[in-house]
Amino acid sequence: MIKPTTTNTGTPVPSDDESLTAGTQGPILLHDHYLIEKLAHFNRERVPERVVHAKGSGAYGELVVTNDVSRFTKAKLFQPGARTESLVRFSTVAGEQGSPDTWRDPRGFAVKFYTEDGNYDIVGNNTPVFFIKDPIKFPDFIHSQKRLPGSGLRDHTMQWDFWTLRPETAHQVTWLMGDRGIPKTYRHMDGFGSHTYQWINAEGERFWVKYHFKTDQGIEYLTQAEADHLAGTSPDHHRKDLYEAIERGDFPSWTLKVQVMPVAEAESYRFNPFDLTKVWSQQDYPLIEVGRWTLNRNPGNFHVDIEQAAFAPSNLVPGIGFSPDKMLLGRVFAYADAHRYRIGVNHHELPPNRARAAEVNSYSKEGAMRFEYNDASVPVYAPNSFGGPHAQAHQAPDGGAWDFDPTMLRAGYIQHAEDNDFAQAGTLVREVLDDDERDRLVANVAGHILGGVQEPILTRVFQYWKNVDADLGKRIEVAVRESL
Ligand code: NDP
Repeated sequence: MIKPTTTNTGTPVPSDDESLTAGTQGPILLHDHYLIEKLAHFNRERVPERVVHAKGSGAYGELVVTNDVSRFTKAKLFQPGARTESLVRFSTVAGEQGSPDTWRDPRGFAVKFYTEDGNYDIVGNNTPVFFIKDPIKFPDFIHSQKRLPGSGLRDHTMQWDFWTLRPETAHQVTWLMGDRGIPKTYRHMDGFGSHTYQWINAEGERFWVKYHFKTDQGIEYLTQAEADHLAGTSPDHHRKDLYEAIERGDFPSWTLKVQVMPVAEAESYRFNPFDLTKVWSQQDYPLIEVGRWTLNRNPGNFHVDIEQAAFAPSNLVPGIGFSPDKMLLGRVFAYADAHRYRIGVNHHELPPNRARAAEVNSYSKEGAMRFEYNDASVPVYAPNSFGGPHAQAHQAPDGGAWDFDPTMLRAGYIQHAEDNDFAQAGTLVREVLDDDERDRLVANVAGHILGGVQEPILTRVFQYWKNVDADLGKRIEVAVRESL
């Protein structure tokens, strides 16, 4: 039997097709409240899109721990044999909701783990580094990658102006312009926590750690020409691929690995280990396997599960902490705040965001759209004399503990012996890429510059690439000048 259409509060409605009018040609009547409800709700279907990472796709899955890393962390989700439900949202960064999946851009790689100690989020990217290293530059950086205020157009001059004025971008820009700048699918890319985090073991011993999700599907990428074609013919290419793979039971997986640095080594390591524009060489800190992370369930509803998903580096669990990485510390504030604006102060109650394996005993109350509440007998303030929850410091994450200089100052990162904005980008070009990859890098950069970079930025762009690698810079200049 076909069910009757109802109002949002369950009353059967008179018609799906005709509004109520005064006579056949008269005005529509205000008391046709079902029509009003329908139009008004439609007007409000969109929540504000994210300022960055607006276009994304995601799925549910699980992490199964396959190795014993308990000597480094007591976090329950990383103990041998642990199995933890998870949610991921992959995304592009600069494009808007309807933008093509295949634009050259870093990919967001935001993972949530529903642990028995509360939700733990690793909000990373498909690259181990980032363009900048201080959160005060983030709004400037994003403005330069989005649209001109007057014309509303994207602008390559603006992008290269920012990149070349801030040389710490060189490592990430080299990644972006290389093969891995456009993954073939979300399944064929690695993920990185990117930041340095802290792991704390049961004895209270601390380690610095970096997360690597290594794709079990193998790295595959799109050439610029393939990506440009797909942008026109299949703009949701990556969303479609992920959804269809999971629907047919071809569950993508990643091997989660970590690099671990003893705390005492950070001071003297050749790169500042908290600088988000640098990696820790895997020759110095080899990857240690943690477990297998598999995506096995599509969202039941895209808006509910993915659009309303809210990832925040402030979602931390015992056994894991922050580090002096300034970008991480800035994001610890900014992400939760973005969600409060975008989907509301009670976004933590929504299905993708709520704690699933842990009990919530918070003193936050009320606010727009609140629908969960404690039994009225539980006090709403702390301390209280009526058995309400009481903070247990020994059970809480040790998120802020590291030794630091307490002087308040505005300073750059302390430069370690080999810290230089161009050095690791140069290593990538000379020692990791082969001749074919270098050729494509030259072509990708030249093509991007020819997208409309104006003088005096143009000359600076050539110097920027000569700083990365003299030969590569010359080749890019020749390729561009010959085509101008
Ligand atoms: P290693 O030789 O130990 O590692 C090289 C890394 O480069 C591997 O992780 C490899 O990933 C990755 N890689 C291979 N081809 C490309 C490519 N076309 N674009 C980007 N990355 C690629 O060297 P180091 O650890 O000393 O690092 C050297 C350079 O490698 C760095 O400057 C950095 O740019 C890059 N890199 C370093 C990473 C790190 O965490 N140390 C991580 C990724 C890249 P895979 O095994 O998947 O091929």
